[in-house]
Amino acid sequence: MNATAPITQDVLTIPRKLPEGAKRNIVGLTRPQLHAALVEIGTPDRQAKMRVGQVWQWIYHWGVRDFAQMTNLAKDYRAKLAEHFEVTIPEVVNRQISEDGTRKYLVRIAGGHEVETVYIPEEGRGTLCVSSQVGCTLTCSFCHTGTQKLVRNLTAGEIVGQLMLARDDLGEWPVMGAPKDEQRLVSNIVLMGMGEPLYNFDNVRDAMKVVMDGEGLSLSRRRITLSTSGVVPEIAKTAEEIGCLLAVSFHATTDEVRDKLVPINKKWNIKALLDALRDYPKLSNSERITFEYVMLKDVNDTDADAKRLVKLIQGIPAKINLIPFNEWPGSAYQRSDWERIEKFADIIYHAGYASPIRKPRGEDIMAACGQLKSATERERKSRAQIAAETGA
Ligand code: SAH
Ligand code: SF4
Repeated sequence: MNATAPITQDVLTIPRKLPEGAKRNIVGLTRPQLHAALVEIGTPDRQAKMRVGQVWQWIYHWGVRDFAQMTNLAKDYRAKLAEHFEVTIPEVVNRQISEDGTRKYLVRIAGGHEVETVYIPEEGRGTLCVSSQVGCTLTCSFCHTGTQKLVRNLTAGEIVGQLMLARDDLGEWPVMGAPKDEQRLVSNIVLMGMGEPLYNFDNVRDAMKVVMDGEGLSLSRRRITLSTSGVVPEIAKTAEEIGCLLAVSFHATTDEVRDKLVPINKKWNIKALLDALRDYPKLSNSERITFEYVMLKDVNDTDADAKRLVKLIQGIPAKINLIPFNEWPGSAYQRSDWERIEKFADIIYHAGYASPIRKPRGEDIMAACGQLKSATERERKSRAQIAAETGA
């Protein structure tokens, strides 16, 4: 497959049509989809809107998965729902907790595939890093996920399910009658896990619609950041149809270097990308774009790079997030020295941009940015490596 070829939805997403007798999962359906599904099982049209609201609150506000517990619905209606639907989320098959408190979940989805989800607790907030694909079609040379072939897109339910399973694990569902807890454990979402979210646009959009809905999980669009490697045609759509914050994996200041680091650049180069980004804040009514920049020793970390970077982004409301490179077994790069990173940050800061250096989190459990890859895939690779080493 061409490394930068767009992926069509129908090839990779689980088919909508269910096998005979199978129940439809409600998790991940948007309100209109749930409405249609309830009408389909015989809910009178005039009641459907109210039933959607009731079921929605049980599932996404209270975290209830069993229809029998949805006590404001008539008993026979609950039975009918249970006959046709289920409320399921992906299974956590392994959980690792880093010494810094970061939690990494290995999550099994339909078909036996696996993705990783990472929870990062911080002072006064907590961020969940969510995956959108199993593997990735792109092959950014510094990224571990990029060494794993794309297996498939996640469904909207599997994307929403990652937030629900984290809330399960953290015990974050509200308790009826208890005072409202203002401090949320998962207060932010970043679509920065495995995969390129804009190559799975429809499912990511639907999932975020569910996550942003004020009667349920209720995370505002300003607490969601989608990171893209630069799928230019989908950027305006992201502003219009999701409206979340945008981060872009920039990583280089010349096309020559970016072609090597982020190969999608061969399709949409720096100029095309910047043109699309210029319109984003206005279209999405958000303040600024985050430019992610991975610091690779002797590759993209000179003073000249820093100066070129500020010149390139001139006129775009931005902050530049410097990411010290996180190593993974077999990676070809090294992290820039600390003084180099600080000097680079200084140049950007003096040009008038915020230039935070991202603190690597969960490195001891391979949960830091760009280290994700499903455990079975990782094992397969290491077995292959062992075989090569021993000549077996
Ligand atoms: N596919 C999307 C989102 C996932 S990657 C994208 O590429 O934007 C989230 C961020 O981590 C991206 O900026 C990515 O370039 C960066 N990253 C990937 N591998 C990394 C590594 N080994 N060390 C540090 N950052 C890395
Ligand atoms: Fe895919 Fe993003 Fe990794 Fe590139 S950096 S290979 S787009 S997950």
